[in-house]
Amino acid sequence: MQAFKADTSGFALDTAGLQRLFEVLAEDGYRVVGPTRRDDAIVYDEIGGITALPAGWTDRQEPGRYALERREDNAFFGYAVGPHSWKKFLFPPSETLWSAHRGDDGVMTVAVPERTADKFAFIGVRACELHAMAVQDRVFGEGPYVDTAYAARRSNAFIVAVNCAEAGGTCFCVSMETGPRATQGFDLALTELIGGDEHLFLIEAGSEAGRRILERVPHGTATTEQAEAARAVSERTASQMGRSLDTRGIKELLQDNPEHPRWDDVAARCLTCANCTMVCPTCFCSTVEDHSDLTGQNAERVRKWDSCFTMDYSYIHGGSVRTAASSRYRQWMTHKLANWIDQFGTSGCVGCGRCITWCPVGIDLTEEVAAIRAALDEGRSR
Ligand code: SF4
Ligand code: SF4
Repeated sequence: MQAFKADTSGFALDTAGLQRLFEVLAEDGYRVVGPTRRDDAIVYDEIGGITALPAGWTDRQEPGRYALERREDNAFFGYAVGPHSWKKFLFPPSETLWSAHRGDDGVMTVAVPERTADKFAFIGVRACELHAMAVQDRVFGEGPYVDTAYAARRSNAFIVAVNCAEAGGTCFCVSMETGPRATQGFDLALTELIGGDEHLFLIEAGSEAGRRILERVPHGTATTEQAEAARAVSERTASQMGRSLDTRGIKELLQDNPEHPRWDDVAARCLTCANCTMVCPTCFCSTVEDHSDLTGQNAERVRKWDSCFTMDYSYIHGGSVRTAASSRYRQWMTHKLANWIDQFGTSGCVGCGRCITWCPVGIDLTEEVAAIRAALDEGRSR
């Protein structure tokens, strides 16, 4: 095993080294979570080693369409992003906040689940997803009300990023300045190089924890050619990106035009199904449900993901505030791209493209913004 050298342009890992990385993380008590193929999609789940990775598969994505296809090579990370995001581990879709039990003596006992946070090692995190985690860190971890369960899971997480080698059909990370290369927020970052007989990973450490883990994984020093090939991967991916979002003045554009006719146009297509909010790696709305069992002895309060597309979400005394689809779509897009900046100092969108792919009618927020902008520009030029 080679000693780690702190100052270097990168190291190279072969597939056996990648398997060893999984094992070292498991030895240190991490639940190793990574991409795997299930139900004709690439999802994130606990995996035991490299054999669970979606080797030789890629995803083809368009508005309202997702399909897996075989690749010509056996790349482990040769896809973009699927329906899952890492928020399902850091901010679970359903979480018990407390439970209550009435004993035979009639005395009620209330218990709060112990917040011993899972130690997750996330394998294959893309640059846009690192930015999405940073966005949710501001929501859950900053301000006067810290979500302690989220904060504990987040601070325990070990992150292995992967630089995208192909742009997905719906991504627009370049225009959001969130990718395709991981530049921050990881412990280790990989760039997969595959061709001929070569299948290896350029690996760089982004934290002290990453350096310590890498010391225990057999690796070599990257050659100049390999380092250049890894840089070229990110440049090629950036140049392939077919979609962009013009963010110039976007906050004012959306906040100043709540009555724009385009909101009715998109509402005529939108099913208010909430898919876009479920797949979005930054959306964080939740609701709270109380349940009791039929004996009346046990009850619990559960937090669940919710969406601004549901009628219940804006229900207050007397009814829902946002009854029209146009008002719900406007709420979502204006919050995501404009009001989020006022609240958290950043856009709520990282350009992953999931909301476009997983919208059953293929609504594309980049097109909606462009249409509002174009209509206003046209009006000004008259
Ligand atoms: S709004 Fe859409 S493109 Fe932006 S981060 Fe959410 S899912 Fe990704
Ligand atoms: S924009 Fe698409 S995914 Fe979102 S609620 Fe409307 S139909 Fe569903």
